[in-house]
Amino acid sequence: MYDKAQQDFNENETALDAMAGDGGYSEGTRHGYLASVMRRNGKRFWAGDNISEYVQEEHIPELIDEATKAFEKVLDCLLIDRENDPNSKGTARRLAKMYFNEIMEGRYVAGPDATSFPNDSEDRYEGMLVVRSELRSMCSHHHQPVTGVAYIGIIAAQKLIGLSKYTRIAQWCARRGTLQEELCNDIAREIEKATGAPNLGVYIQATHGCCENRGIMAKSSLTQTTVLKGSFKDDAGVKKEFFDNIKLQQEYSC
Ligand SMILES: [Zn+2]
Repeated sequence: MYDKAQQDFNENETALDAMAGDGGYSEGTRHGYLASVMRRNGKRFWAGDNISEYVQEEHIPELIDEATKAFEKVLDCLLIDRENDPNSKGTARRLAKMYFNEIMEGRYVAGPDATSFPNDSEDRYEGMLVVRSELRSMCSHHHQPVTGVAYIGIIAAQKLIGLSKYTRIAQWCARRGTLQEELCNDIAREIEKATGAPNLGVYIQATHGCCENRGIMAKSSLTQTTVLKGSFKDDAGVKKEFFDNIKLQQEYSC
């Protein structure tokens, strides 16, 4: 299936590249091919976007090989002797693997399977549910770590998902290049999709390596973002209950 696509692609490569405005993407590479296909289909592939519909599992080793070569070039440009420095030997491949398999994994794999359970019996749960999820992410601007916690609150709707799924969804959204504001929106959207709950809130507090390790070298870069939907936004009582719960969670986790 792919070979046919690759063949068509090779035959039309020049036209495709021209159409795709393929600035800087080298020809005949897996990443170049995938980027051209996404461009042709109008698929956005920003650092925070999931592109798992385009990147198959079997592409990953090939993409890691291509990224390794590119990271080797970066190290060479930085005048780091990766041939003789024992700590820099293999760094290019370590970086490539880390990006694909860890810190940006949420771009390349499909979302966690969030099996839901009906919550429609007479004695169904109708209260608020607040889940605390540890987050590790990376800012798109500087590729520095973003470290924090998300508190996800919903008013239970017609279905429920397993408690660990909230965290899996949040981490899947976080393991990309991101902005905290975007991450907050992404988590809210995915939780809404998985639970069908229109009333929800997501509060994130995180520190940012790009403000602590460089730039202003802030001692604390704690940043807070909130997305509120439905009654979390419109009902002062619900909003207060959400933030009271967060406070209780914070006391508990200290
Ligand atoms: Zn940054």
